[in-house]
Amino acid sequence: MDNKPLHPESHMMTYGYIPALSEGAIKCPLFQTSTFVFRTAEEGKAYFELAYGLRNPNPEEELGLIYSRINNPNLEILEDRLGLWDEADDCAVFESGMSAISTVLLEFLTRGDILLYSNPVYGGTDHFIKHYLKNLGIESIGIHPGQSREEIMALLAGKEERVAMIYLETPANPTNDLFDIAMFSSIKAELAKRRTGENESTVMVVDNTYMGPIWQHPLKFGADLVVYSATKYIGGHSDLIAGAVLGSQPLLTRVKTTRTFLGNMVSPHTAWMLLRSLETLKVRMDQQTKNAQMLALHLSNHHMVEKIYFLGMMDDEANALFARQCEAPGAMLSFDIQGGEKEAFVFLNSLKLIKLAVSLGSTESLAEHPATMTHVGVDQELRELINITGKLVRLSVGVEHIDDLIADVDQAFDKVKEHRSLITLPSLPIVN
Ligand code: PLP
Repeated sequence: MDNKPLHPESHMMTYGYIPALSEGAIKCPLFQTSTFVFRTAEEGKAYFELAYGLRNPNPEEELGLIYSRINNPNLEILEDRLGLWDEADDCAVFESGMSAISTVLLEFLTRGDILLYSNPVYGGTDHFIKHYLKNLGIESIGIHPGQSREEIMALLAGKEERVAMIYLETPANPTNDLFDIAMFSSIKAELAKRRTGENESTVMVVDNTYMGPIWQHPLKFGADLVVYSATKYIGGHSDLIAGAVLGSQPLLTRVKTTRTFLGNMVSPHTAWMLLRSLETLKVRMDQQTKNAQMLALHLSNHHMVEKIYFLGMMDDEANALFARQCEAPGAMLSFDIQGGEKEAFVFLNSLKLIKLAVSLGSTESLAEHPATMTHVGVDQELRELINITGKLVRLSVGVEHIDDLIADVDQAFDKVKEHRSLITLPSLPIVN
């Protein structure tokens, strides 16, 4: 193999696992155990010294297994493998995307700080920012797609030194609006210069759930941390809930320490399931984006579709940013159906193969109505501003045969047409 580094997908079956340590089992077994037996008291003492940072490890010394809230083979191998896709120093896996996100927000923000964040963010994140963080005395400033650097700096005028975190979700759910990670990285650098206190810096976090870990790599554009709902593409089968944080070693040490005390690490069983999911991650996501591109093309030519929101099919500026920042258009697409909520509901109720459910990134295709479901909590005014209206339908495209997906949306559009002709039928004169 000429010592050429392997691609991440070639590592997903074996990386970090030594069969000889598990009776030669080809697959990493499930380590369903809460605690681990020390060979000697001295060994237990040495492990705790490292776990609590009481001394630096000797050369070649690694933290041994102590207790499954601190470490477990399934968790450690999963973190090693997941980190490869984003080329991160380290990774921490959590029991949900929300526990990953809330742990990061709590660890890097404190009373008096300002959080600059993109709109819209996932509803759970939005609620945590507007309610929980507010109660802790953390101010938040929301920005919208398309706002220029000058407009953003004007919003922060006089408060620059208080901005402790920039948090982006890009592409934005459900309209695929992109935020320019590199531009925010340069804003971060400017803000960080004003934060002169000891240990003070500005941390930039990107929720990469919509695109990762294959189609966009925020760390390469200057993000400090990447967060995921691993429930989505990484899990990929709508059968588990998990989350992840990736980034540099010093930041991940802080995240993992907080996780140890909050106790919100992923369970060994979920970690074991995620190891299995990672083996097919690349082929699943490749097929999903291929299907999504073909479905988007079909929808864009359909007379009942007014507007499509799919990466690469946006305006010139968005397409240019997409080309700079992303490696594929992903598998999430939204469209405005001709009409409004009524037509959108008939369409959703008529789908047969595509399931009417929230969530995304799984092998099966899903459809939902953002304005009344995932984004119902977003202010009405903001919803209108960012095109989340009654006519918007969101699709998460799976791995089914593309002909079947196209046939399903077409028959659902036919039902909408039938429904429309029924309600517009002129009333006939009554003949006695
Ligand atoms: N981030 C994004 C973009 C999401 O869509 C979701 C969930 O839908 C989350 C975070 C939260 O993840 P979880 O449901 O795994 O807690």
